[in-house]
Amino acid sequence: QTIGQFFDAACQRYAARDGLVVRQQGVRWSYAEFGEQVTRLACGLRRLGLQLGERIGIWSQNNVEWVLMQFATAKAGLVLVNINPAYRRSELEYALGKVGCRALVLSPSFKSSDYLAILNDVVPELAASQPGELQAASLPELRWVVRLGSEPTPGMLNFDSLLTAPSDAERQALQQVGQTLQFDDPINIQFTSGTTGSPKGATLTHHNILNNGFFVGEAMRLTEHDRLCIPVPLYHCFGMVLGVLACLTHGSTIVFPSEAFEPLAVLETVAAEKCTALHGVPTMFIAVLDHPRFAEFDLSTLRTGIMAGSPCPIEVMKRVVAQMHMAEVTIAYGMTETSPVSFQSHTDTPLEKKVSTVGRIHPHVEVKIVDPQGRIVPRGETGELLTRGYSVMLGYWGDEEKTREAIDAAGWMHTGDLAVLDADGYCNIVGRVKDMVIRGGENIYPREIEEFLYRHPKVQDVQVVGVPDSKYGEELCAWIRLRDGETCTADEIRAFCSGQIAHYKIPRYIEFVDSFPMTITGKIQKFMMRQQMKQKLG
Ligand code: ATP
Ligand code: MG
Repeated sequence: QTIGQFFDAACQRYAARDGLVVRQQGVRWSYAEFGEQVTRLACGLRRLGLQLGERIGIWSQNNVEWVLMQFATAKAGLVLVNINPAYRRSELEYALGKVGCRALVLSPSFKSSDYLAILNDVVPELAASQPGELQAASLPELRWVVRLGSEPTPGMLNFDSLLTAPSDAERQALQQVGQTLQFDDPINIQFTSGTTGSPKGATLTHHNILNNGFFVGEAMRLTEHDRLCIPVPLYHCFGMVLGVLACLTHGSTIVFPSEAFEPLAVLETVAAEKCTALHGVPTMFIAVLDHPRFAEFDLSTLRTGIMAGSPCPIEVMKRVVAQMHMAEVTIAYGMTETSPVSFQSHTDTPLEKKVSTVGRIHPHVEVKIVDPQGRIVPRGETGELLTRGYSVMLGYWGDEEKTREAIDAAGWMHTGDLAVLDADGYCNIVGRVKDMVIRGGENIYPREIEEFLYRHPKVQDVQVVGVPDSKYGEELCAWIRLRDGETCTADEIRAFCSGQIAHYKIPRYIEFVDSFPMTITGKIQKFMMRQQMKQKLG
């Protein structure tokens, strides 16, 4: 089925049940009301003259409009392009230009910065144009800019005007469009985080993300009695697939506590809405647990949820189980290109496995772990993780070469992650292929050395990369951030390593720094570190 067909059926089946709650906007809709609003928006988008397969970007934090767009674009046969609200001028221009967006929806309610100013920088022609007649030199395909709300803004259309009641003819035309759409049509372009280079636009189909949302919900044992609190962003698959689509496919209630993550809003929402499930990255759970008013809220309705995005510390997991009642919490691993999840623990996975692995393979996904020659390695050994199945993206939008590098002729997605499978099929992610260092023929995993150096009392944070070397091929380089007020020398660090780890694992270069190059989503970019060291070493 397409997402539109599935959505309509779910809105009928669960009509009277709570569908969507958006606390910060006071929205509380049954599935039937939710369905009607989506139909209105889908007709409104078609009224603009947008054609099947055209791209429409959304540059916004979490709100009801975002969720409406997710389903209205699917029903109207448009491709939704998720644009990170943290993007600024150059990233916005890159994202819009790369996929040739016909329209852009933006929310100017963001607190942090002047989005309208950025937009006027990118498309200076906007203010003087009529809505729908924009012709920007830098973005020739962009015609429409739609602003959330009803406040008049030069050159822009108001979102609310797209929600007027459609005529019967418009409703029928929408139905007919729905019948022509295919389950493997592109529906969504999501940008990767840009940890290993420029972000790539992964093109995903109805089939990809609808099924992934379903299996994610299965692993959590969601039902129509569950209410999932979603403080993670919608522009990322965590909110859009693991949150919204997991709920839709199980008739559960979708609950948003706030525009962007706020620990107090999560506490208030879980208690007031009697949420049974909660998603978050580990740092979000820590912020909730450590909130000074934590004890005031009744969280006893909680049962499950997903912790993902980065490795989950054991102490945090234990507190989430004991203090937040989430004994059935699960862990997930995935990537944008695979819709995203391919490994997940289950509600009943032993806690020790939940904290040390990313769980077991998802249904209908194949995996293998291979050495650099493509041979499958024995269980327990490290290699590159390859995945295959319904969840693999169509490709990177407008980049056939990168697509061919990522997905081979047999359909295997090369994840670029290094992984180990244990005897029971649980998977451990140990780093990225691009970060592995080969020094004089020895494979070295930077994570292992980083974990060792973390034990040094003066070290706050450490990252290890390989840099080119004429004798050994590569040499190790450690960037170290010291704890506040500490001083330290490279010799001190080397003396700390000496006799504790193999001599070839002791970094040849040791740099003391104040920060690491990072993506705007907070992932460390080792490729930038390698570039900077290469320049420095000549
Ligand atoms: P880019 O592909 O642009 O370099 P990225 O790979 O960081 O950026 P995403 O698709 O957002 O972009 O992130 C997927 C990656 O995140 C995975 O390939 C993996 O390296 C890491 N990851 C995801 N989940 C986990 C997890 N549970 N534990 C450890 N690492 C994880
Ligand atoms: Mg990636």
